[in-house]
Amino acid sequence: METSVGVVTISAEDTEKLGRAVSEALRPGDVVALAGDLGAGKTVFVQGAAAGLGVLQPVVSPTFTLVREYAGRLPVVHMDVYRLDRVQDVLDVGFEEYLDGRAVVFIEWGDVIQGLLPESWLGVRLTLDMQDEARRAVTVTRTGPAWSGRWELLERLLAPWESV
Ligand code: ADP
Ligand code: MG
Repeated sequence: METSVGVVTISAEDTEKLGRAVSEALRPGDVVALAGDLGAGKTVFVQGAAAGLGVLQPVVSPTFTLVREYAGRLPVVHMDVYRLDRVQDVLDVGFEEYLDGRAVVFIEWGDVIQGLLPESWLGVRLTLDMQDEARRAVTVTRTGPAWSGRWELLERLLAPWESV
C-alpha cells in the first residue's frame, strides 16, 4: 500500500470538490496539514472539506486571525501558521488544546510546524502548474497509524480524479 496518492484538479471548484471527497474519510481528532505556495489552493481545499463536514458558514482564510473555529457535524478548526515566525506563537494560541481529539484540525503551512503535529496526520500538498493556471497537482500523504485503516477508503474517494 502506497503512503501517498497524487491527483490533478483542473479548477478551484474541482479542488473544493476534492476537499469534500477527502472529508468523507475524516474523523474527530484528525489533523490535516496543507502545504503549497501562496495561491496554491490550500484555503479552497479546506472550504470544500469543511462544507463536507457540515459547516454552513463561509470558511474564510485565517491568515490574520491564526485560527478560526466552525461548528459542523464535527467541530472544525482552521489554522494558518504562515505568518508565524516562532513556534511559541502557535503554542500561545492554544494549539495543543485544539488537538484534544474532538475536532478536525486543518493547518495551512502545517509542514512548517511538523515537529508539533501529532503522531498521525494527513498531508495535502498542492502544486501550481507553470503551464496551466487552473491546474494543480495534489498529493495526499499519510503519516502515522491513524490512517492505515482508512487508506483504501481514501484512495477510493480520490479515484474519480486523474492521477499523477
Ligand atoms: P492558498 O490558501 O494556498 O494561499 P487559496 O485557496 O486562497 O490559496 O487560493 C487559490 C486561488 O487559486 C484562488 O483564487 C482560486 O480561485 C485559484 N485557483 C485556480 N485554479 C485552482 C485549482 N485547481 N485549485 C485551487 N485553486 C485554484
Ligand atoms: Mg490560504
